[in-house]
Amino acid sequence: MSDPTRFDLDDRQRAMLAEMGVRVWWPQSPATTEAAPVAQPEPVAAVATSASVVPAPVSPAPVARPALATPVPAVPIKPLAEGVDRMDWAALQETAAACQACDLCAQRKKSVFGVGDPQAPWMVIGEAPGEEEDQAGEPFVGQSGQLLDNMLKAVGLSRKAQGEGGVYIANAIKCRLPGNHNPTPQELATCAPYLARQVALVQPKIILLMGRFAVQSVLQTTEPIGKLRGQVHSHQGVPVVVTYHPAYLLRNPADKAKAWADLVLALKTAQG
Ligand code: SF4
Repeated sequence: MSDPTRFDLDDRQRAMLAEMGVRVWWPQSPATTEAAPVAQPEPVAAVATSASVVPAPVSPAPVARPALATPVPAVPIKPLAEGVDRMDWAALQETAAACQACDLCAQRKKSVFGVGDPQAPWMVIGEAPGEEEDQAGEPFVGQSGQLLDNMLKAVGLSRKAQGEGGVYIANAIKCRLPGNHNPTPQELATCAPYLARQVALVQPKIILLMGRFAVQSVLQTTEPIGKLRGQVHSHQGVPVVVTYHPAYLLRNPADKAKAWADLVLALKTAQG
């Protein structure tokens, strides 16, 4: 089986990896000059030397996982408008924009429904809008958005592209969380039908979940990202790969190499 962290990179992708802060190691031996580059974790210890650098984490082959442990507990929620699970794109977006099913509606400026090609082969799901997203009405703006865009560029994707290079980006929760508080189980569960319908309408080849609350909403588990990444899960019959949220990566740049390995796993899974 080929190494899923190995990936032929062009100049643009190498530049994007540099933007992500992922160092790319090139074999020095003439005997190995034809090998593809391997993304390496940033050094985390002063004693690390180039000779002792180890390969980036190797993700196991894509396999469907059994039911996950630590399921999200059931919580009482208010129902959304009738027929969300059958709405077309326009009706769904309009309904979410007017939604008052949870208290988060009170302080939103704009509902943040999603951005990108609604027929894209990739779907990225984050957590919830912050202040900048609330004002822009678009998910992943600001520094986190720039990092996400660079990560997507590294695998040939853009939120502005249509078709093969396109990606649809949405959040688990559509309204801003005041004070950027962690979403409650009720907030996640109440908003989940909008996301479920978006997935059903986009019908992506691959879903990339970014952050633990995206995982809780979609995979219905409270297991940590570290235990879930590196494997292929499933939602509505669509393969799902789990990775870190860009905001986390900005605070923990040493984990960008793991995020790169997750992107490569998602790319190989989407390519079948
Ligand atoms: S967060 Fe979701 S469920 Fe709550 S008001 Fe906004 S759209 Fe409705």
